[in-house]
Amino acid sequence: MALREPGASPLAGGTDLVLLIKDGLFQPQKLVDLSQLNELQGISEKEDFIEIGASTKLKEIVDCEILPECLRKGAGWVGSPQIRNLGTIGGNICNASPSGDTLTPLLVLEAELVLQSWRGTRVVPLDSFFTGPKRTIRADDEILTVIRLPKRVLQKKTGFSKIGGRNGMIISQVNGALSCFKREFKITEVRMAFGSVAPTPIRAKHTEEALEGSDIRNIPESVFSAVQEDIKPISDIRAGDKYRRALMRAIILDILSQVQNP
Ligand SMILES: Cc1cc2nc3c(=O)[nH]c(=O)nc-3n(C[C@H](O)[C@H](O)[C@H](O)COP(=O)(O)OP(=O)(O)OC[C@H]3O[C@@H](n4cnc5c(N)ncnc54)[C@H](O)[C@@H]3O)c2cc1C
Repeated sequence: MALREPGASPLAGGTDLVLLIKDGLFQPQKLVDLSQLNELQGISEKEDFIEIGASTKLKEIVDCEILPECLRKGAGWVGSPQIRNLGTIGGNICNASPSGDTLTPLLVLEAELVLQSWRGTRVVPLDSFFTGPKRTIRADDEILTVIRLPKRVLQKKTGFSKIGGRNGMIISQVNGALSCFKREFKITEVRMAFGSVAPTPIRAKHTEEALEGSDIRNIPESVFSAVQEDIKPISDIRAGDKYRRALMRAIILDILSQVQNP
């Protein structure tokens, strides 16, 4: 499966792309509708991975019980029921917004993307996919076909949180996700990611290091200074950079509270 026509843009649910076209911000030469391709639909369990077809609707992600809590929660925070019934996970990824709500969950789940073109297929870690706001390493003739979640990671506890300006239909001022193993109260193999605080969604490696091996009942203060090294927020219409920095303590504590119970 690949785009044969030069200048052709894939169209999935259209909840990002159609708005850009209507507002005159993007004029594709051709649109290729992916919505009827069965190969891009659905969630299936393989030996080492769970595979999610790129055109799987966000509503299906929310409802799928074999998927980790953080991803179901992130998808559940996208827009409204109408948007989640049209919008796809592949569209959320390829749109590459720094605030995309499935992106931080997918980062902490160590997701891999399968990209296909006439030249062949390549598998890339999500962590290396985003290069800037709305920019990715996807070549023009490549289609994202499948998102793979390694099964080992699915044994972990996970959490997701989003802070925005008002309830419902909000784009994040900050969002974040966590995955970790928890034995008694000690957390290990911590992965943490944040959105809306840098040009792309980011893995927060200093924060991960500071959290690694911690007792979840007693989070070291160094975690809250480490996160300030990880993020590079800007001021925009949704929030100021200082405010975004100040939100980090609250969002970290909220996410950790979700993995606190046995
Ligand atoms: C009112 C409203 C509220 C919203 N709220 C949120 C929110 O709270 N959180 C959030 O994260 N997003 C939000 N969005 C954005 C949007 O709904 C999501 O990003 C959605 O997941 C996009 O999916 P789609 O299928 O509609 O993508 P489309 O609009 O069809 O495509 C988006 C981009 O991805 C490309 N693309 C799509 N599929 C593929 C593929 N398989 N291979 C290669 N390229 C592909 C397209 O060419 C396009 O560039 C909102 C949008 C609206 C209109």
